[in-house]
Amino acid sequence: MSNWEKSLSDAVKQVPPSGIRKFFDVAAKMDDVITLGIGEPDFVTPWHIRESCVYGLEKGYTSYSTNKGMPLLRQEIAALYKRTYKINYDPAEEIIVTVGVSEAVDLALRAILNPGDEVLIPEPCYVSYKACVILAGGTPIPVPTSVEKEFRVTADDLEKYVTAKTKVLLIGYPNNPTGTILTTDELRGIAAFAQKHDLIVLSDEIYGDLTYGGLEHICFSSLPGMKDRTILFNGFSKAYAMTGWRLGYALANPVFIEAMNKIHQYTMLCAPVTAQVAGIEALQNGEGNMHKMINEYDRRRHFIYEGFCHMGLKTFEPKGAFYIFPNIESTGMTSEEFVEKLLEREHVAVIPGNAFGECGEGFIRCSYATSIDKIAGALNRIENFLKNI
Ligand code: PLP
Repeated sequence: MSNWEKSLSDAVKQVPPSGIRKFFDVAAKMDDVITLGIGEPDFVTPWHIRESCVYGLEKGYTSYSTNKGMPLLRQEIAALYKRTYKINYDPAEEIIVTVGVSEAVDLALRAILNPGDEVLIPEPCYVSYKACVILAGGTPIPVPTSVEKEFRVTADDLEKYVTAKTKVLLIGYPNNPTGTILTTDELRGIAAFAQKHDLIVLSDEIYGDLTYGGLEHICFSSLPGMKDRTILFNGFSKAYAMTGWRLGYALANPVFIEAMNKIHQYTMLCAPVTAQVAGIEALQNGEGNMHKMINEYDRRRHFIYEGFCHMGLKTFEPKGAFYIFPNIESTGMTSEEFVEKLLEREHVAVIPGNAFGECGEGFIRCSYATSIDKIAGALNRIENFLKNI
């Protein structure tokens, strides 16, 4: 260890390196790789949204906005939640616009955690949650889920891990990496659990618009009694294909929003105004294009699901987000061995399931946010790989 490494903070030293990065680094040096690894839309942001940003620049939108975000954007977010989920959020006090959902999660955790506070995190889950909890001084408590229940978490699972130190439950459905969504009854069970133990619920609903087969997303805050104890996250990255714009938001009780804004005003000041102008256009006129993209993801979802079933890799049908989580235990390999060999022999990049928590071992995450042609090519290569092992 060099001297400088010793001088890093304990929190940073505790955060493990991302289980995703190293495979991307190898893949980046290879030719002819088909990647099902990346969790971002292959679509370019719809033109009318890009154009609104260009026009905004022409009109001189180049300065800071108020810390919590442009009032019109917050009004549009409030209108979206009223129209879609029948929940009222006050744009002045209950909404903060952030640099992606990433910043919102970080702000919320830093605003509420004290050293030693425990955060229940059902796994498999998005790779940032655990790291953000550690960086905020809290203790992440993974709650494993299993494929037998399609990785749905229940109140009974959570009960086994709750202690006197548990302060927060952090959930994300539709789920990255499994594509699992929860039913109203399951969510009600979790809500009763949160109430019983007086927990704050952080609900990452960034994939809320991406549900399929006629299943509607249920917003956690819309459950009886939950609005007041929930910090809800959403953003523009996935549904509007706007990952690079860095725009998200949180909805919560004014006490939480004010505390988050305290950190935000001294660290970020505000989300990029160029992106906020585009976000207004997305919410005012973006639904049509969003549904076209969702329909295309749905087509790819069927295609990739049938492809994995056809080649005999056990998988359940994902109902949300744009990921599928096939089981590779029948190959006798670990997730990492499978991913390394598949990349080396067939030049297909996927992510090992254990990167999302220990209970993801034996699985791989494949993203279908890429063209049908590329998915078809990847499936052929994976089938070939399976035949030759
Ligand atoms: N939450 C989940 C579950 C994600 O999968 C991602 C990105 O992959 C994010 C948050 C980050 O979103 P943003 O681009 O809004 O920071």
